[in-house]
Amino acid sequence: MVDVVSENLRLGLVRLAVVVLIALVGCHGVRPPAGQVDNPLEGRVICVDPGHGATAETDHFRVGPGGEREEWINLRVALLLKGMLEERGARVLMTRTEDVQVDLSDRASLAVENHADVFVSIHHNATADPEVNFPIVYFHGAASENRAGVALGKILARNLRDALFDEATLACLISDRAIFPEKGANVLRNSYGIPGVIGEASFFSNADEEQRLKRPEANRAEAEAYVATLEEFFSAEIPPIAEKGTLVDLPPFAVLEGGERMEDEALSWRRLFDEGLDLMKTGDRGSLVEALDLFTRSVRVFPDSPVARQCHEHRAEILEALGNEAAAEVAALRAREHYVGVE
Ligand SMILES: [Zn+2]
Repeated sequence: MVDVVSENLRLGLVRLAVVVLIALVGCHGVRPPAGQVDNPLEGRVICVDPGHGATAETDHFRVGPGGEREEWINLRVALLLKGMLEERGARVLMTRTEDVQVDLSDRASLAVENHADVFVSIHHNATADPEVNFPIVYFHGAASENRAGVALGKILARNLRDALFDEATLACLISDRAIFPEKGANVLRNSYGIPGVIGEASFFSNADEEQRLKRPEANRAEAEAYVATLEEFFSAEIPPIAEKGTLVDLPPFAVLEGGERMEDEALSWRRLFDEGLDLMKTGDRGSLVEALDLFTRSVRVFPDSPVARQCHEHRAEILEALGNEAAAEVAALRAREHYVGVE
């Protein structure tokens, strides 16, 4: 039991202290510099890259089942984002503002030459399986080298999921070398050093999602998720970016790329994974060898699927059980460096 009289006295003293503090600090307190806390985007140079452009004649795969093209969706979201960022005092560099072709290396150069603080490339995804729909964000290279890209990507993947999907949806943060094994994505590779990501908010190869992406309110919600992401990213200390290949050395892992992702073979990703899991449970050597092949094929046909990271983790486990320590280490390193968890 608390002594009521001394408790009242204590409360009175606390109130007095608060009043004195307000009097002392209220008018003369040190305010943080403009744009640092109140508005973290003030004065930031932000390069916004709406992916692709004017590719209707060449990229026949870049279209949803109802005829909506990826480059149109990307541009709508990017133009909304440009307005929102400029309202908050940022300087926005747009790699394109119309449905036109722009060289990939010119997009990166725009960011580099103008000393952009950040590079965000806006895309939407496609795969053969029409059921698939979830957000993926890509960073360049290896996670422990590109720590700023990973920090930005974690926030974006989470915000895209929260804005556009339900809580149960998996949000993925994946290296661009998982989908372009040799060199990664051109725009991220050539702007490396600037914190940068490619955001693929959802899959236009899913018919319901394609219809949703035609609606202005859906495009606006997505642009707002980017704004919230950049505000959060610039409110904290930005981690460093190490030179490529200084901390991590991973050989390329061949996968279906670009338009190949739409081939029928890519429909088998889930079946291959599930069969691999069943065989793994039996545990005998022959089954493990077969399971290894199934996981390898699953992640080859859909290298950024919701189970891609698990495929590499299971490959590592099996390779170790089979006595191939070196290959097991590579598979485990790939799972860690190319597939980052998002809360
Ligand atoms: Zn794209």
